[in-house]
Amino acid sequence: MAAKEHMASNVLWRGIIEEYRQFLPVAGETPVVTLQEGNTPLIKAVNLKKKGLDLELYFKFDGANPTGSFKDRGMTLALSKAVEAGSKAVICASTGNTSAAAAAYAAKAGIKAIVLIPQGKIALGKLAQALIHGSYVLQIEGNFDEALTIVKLLVEKYKITLVNSINPFRLEGQKTAAFEVCDQLGFAPKYHALPVGNAGNITAYWRGYKEYHANGNISSLPVMLGFQAAGAAPIVKGHPIERPETIATAIRIGNPASWKAAVAARDESGGRIEAVTDSEILNAYSLIASTEGIFCEPASATSLAGVIKLYKEGYLKSGASVVCTLTGHGLKDPDTVFRVTNEPAKVQADITAVERILEGILG
Ligand SMILES: *Cc1c(COP(=O)(O)O)cnc(C)c1O
Repeated sequence: MAAKEHMASNVLWRGIIEEYRQFLPVAGETPVVTLQEGNTPLIKAVNLKKKGLDLELYFKFDGANPTGSFKDRGMTLALSKAVEAGSKAVICASTGNTSAAAAAYAAKAGIKAIVLIPQGKIALGKLAQALIHGSYVLQIEGNFDEALTIVKLLVEKYKITLVNSINPFRLEGQKTAAFEVCDQLGFAPKYHALPVGNAGNITAYWRGYKEYHANGNISSLPVMLGFQAAGAAPIVKGHPIERPETIATAIRIGNPASWKAAVAARDESGGRIEAVTDSEILNAYSLIASTEGIFCEPASATSLAGVIKLYKEGYLKSGASVVCTLTGHGLKDPDTVFRVTNEPAKVQADITAVERILEGILG
């Protein structure tokens, strides 16, 4: 019997460009720079229902991408097109994950990456990634929005490719996450919830769903639900936030690049963009990890925090199908864990001392 029969089909996964080539702006001669991103798990929530959240809830865990966030989907295409165009360097401003992905894909492509990050405001794991992949890391004494303004001016002057999400290839790559959700579920969910920072991802998902619908792959479109952190909620407030603040550093953005497109995604789909507080985000963050076994970063948990809020409000009805994108992996930001957990108990190296504690645990 052929060994092939026992082979899982995803061992052949070639990355999002090859898997969804017909939907992407690539030609036969485009060099494909890939780390075999995509094909991330769509995990059904089972225990949250027992805790009273009566939804058909799924997590699209994009933290399972090669660099630990959905940014890989856009970066494979952005770097492939940059190399095709003969570029020798890429540059970006980043709250962390874009720089991690840019650094990794530039390493794979064999070109330089220059990344501007807000000093002291990116999670430790993301900084480690940018450094180990050999990118040139510049810590700006300012926030993400200021860093983005600088790189936008630099690319007008120097021959470097901008790989922030205003690079159109980023969103083209990111829309493949919507394709995967439909392929994995077999249909489009009723609702799709995700965090909103620079607002590129909600824009990309909506585009992906619309294209799959137009192509006949799905028969309905989801309602798009976007959630910002209360201290960084320009779209909800209706004006830019000069000094955005939130524990969810990946969405600490006061003037989103894809603001208008995100509002269009909301309105065309009949959806909502709302704010959730840092404490709601942290609550969802530890809930996902402790009840469903998925460790995501704080910004990612904003999607579930928002879903819980809209469920309590009565907007989301029992039994509705909801997909929450978990945008990044929890290991990127180990520091936040210690804000929501207790210090491990200290105990003597003595069996009776350990037993006493064990009996307390087992009840
Ligand atoms: C980039 C990022 C976001 C925000 O996505 P936008 O496209 O900027 O709205 C959310 N979560 C994580 C983990 C991210 O890296």
